[in-house]
Amino acid sequence: MARVGVLALQGDYEAHAAALRRAGAEPCEVRLAAELDGLDGLVIPGGESTSMLRLMEYYGLMEPLRRFGMEKPIFGTCAGAILLASDVLNPPQPSLALVDMTIERNAYGRQLDSRVVRLSEHRLGDGELEAVFIRAPIIRRVGAGGRVLATYLGDPVLVDFGRHLVATFHPELTADSRIHGLFLERLGAGAAKR
Ligand code: GLN
Repeated sequence: MARVGVLALQGDYEAHAAALRRAGAEPCEVRLAAELDGLDGLVIPGGESTSMLRLMEYYGLMEPLRRFGMEKPIFGTCAGAILLASDVLNPPQPSLALVDMTIERNAYGRQLDSRVVRLSEHRLGDGELEAVFIRAPIIRRVGAGGRVLATYLGDPVLVDFGRHLVATFHPELTADSRIHGLFLERLGAGAAKR
């Protein structure tokens, strides 16, 4: 079974761990660089990207996470997607810069403080995809190598970058395990290759 971690500094990491368990994994919480050793993949949850960034810097996790992401898959949701993006707007802030995309924080404004929608424009098989947006960012540019798997109001909301996966919504807050399953599938392949 693939070994998957959830970055547990801030945000809704417990909901991600529960979603990974529903999808068949046994996740562990990661707070220290040493806890990345031996993992096949990592989830960076939603929360508040500025707070998470400060904690990542404080605990000396920036370089270890960057190095991990050069080799292993990371799934970033909402604040996690912001932390993975190469370019962050509103306001600009540092990031791990592991995926080539521009993302604008809190981009839906007040009207989309929190909303549950059903996405029909997606590539995850049959049926609509329920998506929970909470003070969500908008992906303004997807660089080379990014494959858009779902859109909402014309903007990409789920993008596959080959190794990494990003979502601007919260798949861990719905019962649908398709997206966590998709992420775990790529860890299985990585683990089998070793
Ligand atoms: N608004 C948050 C940020 O900019 C992200 C919100 C979330 O992760 N649900 O970091």
